[in-house]
Amino acid sequence: MATFDLLYQGLKQNATTFISTAADSQQMLYSTINPAQLGFLERLWFAYYSYLRDPVLATGIMSFLLHELVYFGRCLPWIAIDAMPYFRKWKLQPNKLPTAKQQWECTKAVLLVHFTVELPQIHAFYPLAASVGMKTYHLPFPSYLQMAYQIAIFFVIEDAWHYFGHRLFHYPYLYKRIHKLHHTYSAPFGLAAEYAHPIETLVLGAGTVCGPLAYCWWSGGDMHILTMYVWISLRLFQAIDSHSGYDFPWSLNKFFGLWSGADHHDYHHEKFIECYASSFRYLDWIFGTDKKFHAYRKLQAEQKRVAEQQAAKGGKAH
Ligand SMILES: [Zn+2]
Ligand SMILES: [Zn+2]
Repeated sequence: MATFDLLYQGLKQNATTFISTAADSQQMLYSTINPAQLGFLERLWFAYYSYLRDPVLATGIMSFLLHELVYFGRCLPWIAIDAMPYFRKWKLQPNKLPTAKQQWECTKAVLLVHFTVELPQIHAFYPLAASVGMKTYHLPFPSYLQMAYQIAIFFVIEDAWHYFGHRLFHYPYLYKRIHKLHHTYSAPFGLAAEYAHPIETLVLGAGTVCGPLAYCWWSGGDMHILTMYVWISLRLFQAIDSHSGYDFPWSLNKFFGLWSGADHHDYHHEKFIECYASSFRYLDWIFGTDKKFHAYRKLQAEQKRVAEQQAAKGGKAH
């Protein structure tokens, strides 16, 4: 009985300490915030940071989970599309479909990099973010407009970083030692977006992270980590979609001509040359690294037109 009493007292003590510490941390983190004035997402944010009490840990866990969920969540529809023959007519290299074994091997390799290379980086992100004044647990959230223009800036910065870094990785010395791994799949698929050597992940990934950090420093801390999360999610969508191997009539590049899309990056994997940028087409155009790409797509379109003409003639003859 005495043991039970001791245990009970101990648990009660722990619970009281936890509740009072949570209240302390709420007081510490959000002393000037009235939860009643917050929106739904902001209240979740408030509850999450108050519950975990440690902004470094809370931010690390959220960043890692977000990355995993968005990455694999975005890959799932592409795995399903690869399994459905209906979509084959929009596959850029229709005769090269990824096998289940390739997709599984790729998933394992990507997970290994996520846990060994990206997890420590994600955990190290908080002090970096704090050093440039980025808001993390802070509330309220920034406006949609502010988030939108900051993300547009990050897209431009990352694209330029990626263009020059990627071109550098195609120098034979670096290609053989580092970038060749990413080119394992000459007909890429969504999961292959982050299939790369750890050094490549580190160097090219810096374009995604350092742009916002530099911007935040330059703006005197006028940026929230939520903007960073939306940006990283969109950047993951961009990277996975451009490796998907599909160019649909409703793909973004059909409405926004500057957007690179799978059309652009699939060629880079097929031919191992040109189309070095990530999100946009203008740098490849300015530096003349898209000439063979345009000539090839033109030739393909011409061949398709001739084949369709012949098929129509054949149809009439019957
Ligand atoms: Zn490459
Ligand atoms: Zn690629």
